[in-house]
Amino acid sequence: MKLRTVVHRRFGDGDGGDGKGHRFVYAQPSAAILAIDAGAASLLDAFAGEGREAQDGLALAACDDGEATLRELVELGLIRPAGEARVPAADLPPMPFPLATLVLNVTNKCNLSCTYCYEYGEDKLGPGRASKAPPRMSDETARQSIDFLFENAGERPQVAITFFGGETLLNVPAILAAVEHANARGKEHNKRVHFALTTNATLLEPDVVELLVAHRFGITVSIDGDRSQQDRHRVFKSGKGSFDVIAPRIRYLVDRNKAARGRPIGARVTLTRDATSVLDTFRYLTQELGFDEVGFAPVTADPSRDYALPGAAYDQMLAEFSALAEEHVSAALRDEACGFANLNDLLRELHHGVNKAHPCGAGLGLLGVSTAGDLGLCHRFAESESHGVGDVVNGIDEAARTAFLRAGHVDNKTDCNTCFARPLCAGGCYHEAHVRFGEATRPNLHACEWIRGWTDIGLSAYARIAAGNPRFFLRFESA
Ligand code: SF4
Ligand code: SF4
Repeated sequence: MKLRTVVHRRFGDGDGGDGKGHRFVYAQPSAAILAIDAGAASLLDAFAGEGREAQDGLALAACDDGEATLRELVELGLIRPAGEARVPAADLPPMPFPLATLVLNVTNKCNLSCTYCYEYGEDKLGPGRASKAPPRMSDETARQSIDFLFENAGERPQVAITFFGGETLLNVPAILAAVEHANARGKEHNKRVHFALTTNATLLEPDVVELLVAHRFGITVSIDGDRSQQDRHRVFKSGKGSFDVIAPRIRYLVDRNKAARGRPIGARVTLTRDATSVLDTFRYLTQELGFDEVGFAPVTADPSRDYALPGAAYDQMLAEFSALAEEHVSAALRDEACGFANLNDLLRELHHGVNKAHPCGAGLGLLGVSTAGDLGLCHRFAESESHGVGDVVNGIDEAARTAFLRAGHVDNKTDCNTCFARPLCAGGCYHEAHVRFGEATRPNLHACEWIRGWTDIGLSAYARIAAGNPRFFLRFESA
């Protein structure tokens, strides 16, 4: 019988950070990370490709104790019979799947006119329910949304409510109504409630800051960097840059939050064609403005837009992500946290052996609510007629939800089957696929190089931290 090595990625063959060599393998079918020795590595090579008869492979690998090692690799699922059918990824969980997170788009208006914004830019979804959605969510709809969440959260011990926009803080009354109602319902249902919010920081007045700090909001500020970065795209309708308005407000928020021992405050940076160094931006936002974490996301845009990232920019971005990851690894070896949110997220997923059947929670444990109370797969689809899945009064359209999740299942994305990054990527963001291809369930094949390159950086970081300071990962145990 022919045997064949499964799709995998090898990493960490060099110095493990403690002067010794460390080899690891990331097995795509199981998302397991396993340490291997040189003999096992040579067997994986020998059985790569179309596969071989066991004796031929053993002869080729010529490793000590080859038979026992081969047996072990077969048991671990790293080498399998060549004709064996691929084990399908987990089917849909039992539906209706209980909700964990509801994202309330409390307004679809913004006081900025960022040139690349998917909400106002040329890549907006629609036309659809946007035309009938009011500019602000009413307090009543906010409370109905909370009731809807509790009715659909099943036995979960905790739920999360995220507020989004437009500019979220244009509708503080709805946020307040939702928070008060959610706290009351949480007590009734004996569930913990977490709040989070994304804002452009222009409206972070002291009373708003007190509200956010008092309710331990997880706060993410959309910001692009220092004055020159910020003012390039993140402008008021007059064209005036927003940096001078937001910088003092951010400093005030950070100070109040630290004093109250609040949750970490994050910056979310959108990388566009003309963005400057990731490293400089990270340093500026953490050291000058005091953010605890910074996450970077390439702009989601049709490639024809003049702010879209050209192919070469992805190489540059990977090089900079790699340099920033190096700093993170050094900090992790000293058992210090680092605020590079992208890497933290990736290390957490690797540590937990995440193996996704769907790229994200959209439509599954997470739904978005439009200002009118319509339900979408996530906040970005909340006003899209074609991706609607019900409303907060009449409940979830389970047939539409299930049909989407079936279509978006990674097993339907055949190009992803041979990709080592599949357990983490599962085809990537539905919204990005919709913008690019007009089809949310298509894999984002335009971004594979970037995704695999970034996954490689994460695996390498994981290997060195695992070898040099495995205790570092304990911080992900309670997450
Ligand atoms: S979209 Fe690309 S990178 Fe992501 S799993 Fe599919 S093939 Fe891999
Ligand atoms: S579809 Fe995209 S934007 Fe929506 S939750 Fe998933 S990853 Fe985020």
